[in-house]
Amino acid sequence: MSMTGGKNRQKILKGKRINHGYAIGRAFVYEDILSRDLYYYTIRPDDVERELGRIRTAFGKVLEDIRKLEKNVKAELGREEADIFKVHAEMLRDEALLKDLEKEIKGELVNAEHAVRNVFRKWANKFKVSDSEVVKSKAEDIEDLSRRILCSFMRCDINMLENVPRGSVIVAKRLLPSDTARLKRSNVKGIIVEQGSDVSHSAIIARALGIPAVTELQNATGIIATKSKIILDGYESIVIKEPTSGELKTYRKKIREIRKEETARIKRARKPARTASGDRVRVLANVASKDDIKAAAERGYEGIGLWRIEQIYMSSKILPDEKHLIRKLSKMLKPVKRQVVTLRLLDIGADKDLPYIDIEDEPSPALGMRGVRVLLRYKNLLRTQLKVASILSKDHNVRVLVPVVTFPEEMEEVKRIAKECVKELKEEYGIRARKIRTGAMIETPAAVENIDRISLVSDFVSIGTNDLIQYSVAAGRDNPSVLEYYEKGAGLALKYIKRIVRSAERHGIECSVCGEMAAEDKWIKPLVKAGVRVLSASPYLIPRIKEKIRAI
Ligand code: PEP
Ligand code: MG
Repeated sequence: MSMTGGKNRQKILKGKRINHGYAIGRAFVYEDILSRDLYYYTIRPDDVERELGRIRTAFGKVLEDIRKLEKNVKAELGREEADIFKVHAEMLRDEALLKDLEKEIKGELVNAEHAVRNVFRKWANKFKVSDSEVVKSKAEDIEDLSRRILCSFMRCDINMLENVPRGSVIVAKRLLPSDTARLKRSNVKGIIVEQGSDVSHSAIIARALGIPAVTELQNATGIIATKSKIILDGYESIVIKEPTSGELKTYRKKIREIRKEETARIKRARKPARTASGDRVRVLANVASKDDIKAAAERGYEGIGLWRIEQIYMSSKILPDEKHLIRKLSKMLKPVKRQVVTLRLLDIGADKDLPYIDIEDEPSPALGMRGVRVLLRYKNLLRTQLKVASILSKDHNVRVLVPVVTFPEEMEEVKRIAKECVKELKEEYGIRARKIRTGAMIETPAAVENIDRISLVSDFVSIGTNDLIQYSVAAGRDNPSVLEYYEKGAGLALKYIKRIVRSAERHGIECSVCGEMAAEDKWIKPLVKAGVRVLSASPYLIPRIKEKIRAI
């Protein structure tokens, strides 16, 4: 990052692009609730009872949430996985904890929020210094609980980003997928992060939302204050703090111009795209929400090539069951008619974890339990999704995509379970569901090596270049220190893609590319030349991609 304008009063901050576009808005500096300044006040001795009452109410609410969570997790994942919530509930009922809180309020005469933060911090620190990993991990449970209680006081959701004011530019150290899961497109004008590469999941979400975003702006959360006016230029990857009226005028003009160009491009995108030599290339959409589907429909999408359902799981307080998923998905699917809908089975693990599945402590998460590996461990979680897909396929052209496949046996196992689910639906509920088409996501070099055997047992394949690259060059997609390696990996991925395309052709199945390479200006032509005839990308990028195809 470089800066101009003098120490602490830097006016222009330079970073690296995640998504192009311009935004003028007010900064919303986002911090985890545990590191935020809290409403702090001292109290009189007569107020002690009132503050203790507030603590008891907050504990009661959190206990209620935890009980619901436990029930669902037990049904979907099993008793063992649900036990963690029992522990959380026990912690909240711990007399010693309540005594400490009472002592803090009486002794220090501080409000409930402060007492909770101080006492929970002390408790977490006690566990953190232990030599035992098991005891140490309790510190995280304590922090998790204090987050829930503080949020309950402040009547905020654990995820504050859901309620950012309209016209906000979010400024954060780093955004996790769970942070961005509930971002409202209509309220957020831009995203600025201190860390996170342009293929990290939060970057993908920024692109999916079509909002300008920059990364690698060191100490942005320290330099930019909440509510300050800023301009975000996603083309030059700069942020202008407290812009002058001249700067605002210039950028307002630029915004008007790009809007005009984009409107014309969207109009052209309604028609199918062919290369100059007449090859038809279909452009599908990567979606995660109702808004994405709407944006895709307005931009000439030809189906959904990748539906990331993690957002539904992440934005739900409790583990979604069949009913919840059907309700959510069918509502979102309303505007989709005959177009293909590729439901990617839940891909958690690595940087995407869920509060109710205990895989956070994996020793090397990106090389551990993720994608289909998690689904095959928690079979009920998989069954729920397969049943939902089968039921939805009665009214929609639904197929499922299995994430992070390594071996053909994983596909065979998923297909076997899918068959059982169709049978169960019929026998138990009298639902005549269809056999669901099942595709493999090719995201590991091992899957490329096994591609013929995988193609043989798959109804289609889709290439996830974001992960394929990271696993090819052993460079984390989220790790800025090895970005150079990652960038070089795309050339290697292209070689893999050629092999996958040939294999798919031999087996007469569709092969699409749904990773970020499918949307990058410089890779569209090589992909089409390699024989790829289906690309899937963020809805906002479809018009640009179609123009690129036409120019080949
Ligand atoms: C990919 O890995 O390329 C992909 C599309 O999946 P995700 O980015 O969700 O991991
Ligand atoms: Mg992936």
